[in-house]
Amino acid sequence: ASAFGSLTERLNSVWATLKDEDDLSLENIKGPLKDIRRALLEADVSLPVVRRFIKNIEQKAIGTRVTKGVNAGQQLTKVVADELCELMGGFGGDSLAFKDPSMGPTVILMAGLQGVGKTTACGKLALYLKKQGKDSLLVATDVYRPAAIEQLKRLGEQVKTPVFDMGVRVDPPEVARLGLEKARAEGIDVVIIDTAGRLQVDVHLMEELRATKIATAADEILLVVDAMTGQEAAALTAAFDEAVGITGAVLTKMDGDTRGGAALSVREVSGKPIKFTGVGEKMEALEPFYPERMASRILG
Ligand code: GDP
Repeated sequence: ASAFGSLTERLNSVWATLKDEDDLSLENIKGPLKDIRRALLEADVSLPVVRRFIKNIEQKAIGTRVTKGVNAGQQLTKVVADELCELMGGFGGDSLAFKDPSMGPTVILMAGLQGVGKTTACGKLALYLKKQGKDSLLVATDVYRPAAIEQLKRLGEQVKTPVFDMGVRVDPPEVARLGLEKARAEGIDVVIIDTAGRLQVDVHLMEELRATKIATAADEILLVVDAMTGQEAAALTAAFDEAVGITGAVLTKMDGDTRGGAALSVREVSGKPIKFTGVGEKMEALEPFYPERMASRILG
């Protein structure tokens, strides 16, 4: 609630100019919307996303009668804050779609470009779930990079979670399927699959990801996005979502000084929630996503 409070506070001070207006009109919200637009662009929200957002605000704000007891600035603040939070919110980290345990393990597929923090996020998620009483099996399917398999094994040791791998030169969907079978046989709650990292959106690897999703009937496909990605987050999200259909995202490196505009882009482009944020290199550094906090940060 305090994050929401500071967001409101900021908007109110920026829009003090609206104080004496009775209604919100295209004319009197022009200045304030310029401020908002600038803040969003500074936060690296992609331009088309900013445009759509501002249009939405315009439509919602215009003709809004200012309620008794509040001023026009406060009224516009409410419209913007509501829109931002609605756009990003309604979901927390506990919105993972868990299967009924009698149906077998819940499968979470982690996807993303190389270096974004995908493998780290796999370990973090295993620890996070362990704290909720759910045990996981980590499955290494990045058969192109032995180092990635080794890294997942190390992380597995750190978070006391078993890691299943079949080395390199194997078919990733098959590794995933066998990992799932093992988890099912051992009554493990969750299977977290680390998939191949890629330097850019790559047709072959996308096909492989889709095959892995089908082979495991994955419940969650989480796109791991580096918060520093900025504007490119929109195109990246669109590409992954079109190819495999993501169910949500993990926004990493939020401990950096980025304003996190990528969050808005991911959400706007895919309609899927950010489920977690990574806030450091340690295994403990994973938090559920807090929409209000994020909205506040994006507005600067
Ligand atoms: P992958 O190639 O996507 O699997 O990326 P890695 O998991 O290997 O992470 C790449 C680098 O980013 C490593 O040095 C991680 O320690 C670091 N990293 C991952 N997540 C975070 C985070 O949330 N914050 C910070 N500061 N660093 C992170």
